[in-house]
Amino acid sequence: MNRKRKKTVKKRMILWLSMIALLSITVYFISEISKPVQESLPNTQEPEQEDYEPKQDEKNRNIQSEFENNVNERTVVANPEAKAVLVNPQNMLPDRYVPDDLVYPNVRFTFEEKIEKRMMRAEAAEALEKLFAAADQDGLPLAGVSAYRSNERQKQLFDDYVQKDGLEKAQTYSAYLGTSEHETGLAIDVAGADGSCAVSDCFDNKPEAKWLADNAHRFGFIIRYPKGKEEITGYKYEPWHLRYVGSDIAEEIQEREITLEEYYDAVPVSN
Ligand SMILES: [Zn+2]
Repeated sequence: MNRKRKKTVKKRMILWLSMIALLSITVYFISEISKPVQESLPNTQEPEQEDYEPKQDEKNRNIQSEFENNVNERTVVANPEAKAVLVNPQNMLPDRYVPDDLVYPNVRFTFEEKIEKRMMRAEAAEALEKLFAAADQDGLPLAGVSAYRSNERQKQLFDDYVQKDGLEKAQTYSAYLGTSEHETGLAIDVAGADGSCAVSDCFDNKPEAKWLADNAHRFGFIIRYPKGKEEITGYKYEPWHLRYVGSDIAEEIQEREITLEEYYDAVPVSN
């Protein structure tokens, strides 16, 4: 090998080495650049998961605003003080309605405090005392769980339920502001004196539930949300929810096995 050729080989080797070095550097940089991208992958998933809740909330918010828009399509009842007033998802009480004759019925409750939810309108309270006394006599003592509820309290409850279960489900067991019978002071949720199964589906298996279904009408009360009438009332069966309507209407509703909604289809509200 002559000197010239040796030089050429050396030059080529240097060139190759430089190329390999350059390639290594390039590969190193590419891997360094791609590294943060890979590391950030789990991070991009996290916000997605966080997005999930807001999306659900947004869905609820949309239904909520749709629901609030429907308020305009609801009828505000003209006779909120009437003892047989129809209050349901389509017929709402006037804004900030407060009955003016709320009293504490002298009956057992599942709690001791003299608080708002112990109150009822005077006529309903008196009828409730008679109903409780009759149940006592029949050996099935009762206890009140929840009666009157103010606008503010109803709104707070409903909002809590929507947060917990979503609007669609919450609507089947709770009422939007102004559409709960508890706001009339004419409704009360009742349990057995021991308070077991209070406002729970298992109350249906209690003898107290049967007694109420058979006897409440004698005192002017109806089981407002009966079994099999969910489509009409908009509520699931609530054997514990009593509504005072007065003896005449209660008797008729009992006899015809209808709801308050059906009663008003037969007898126009203007009568
Ligand atoms: Zn109720």
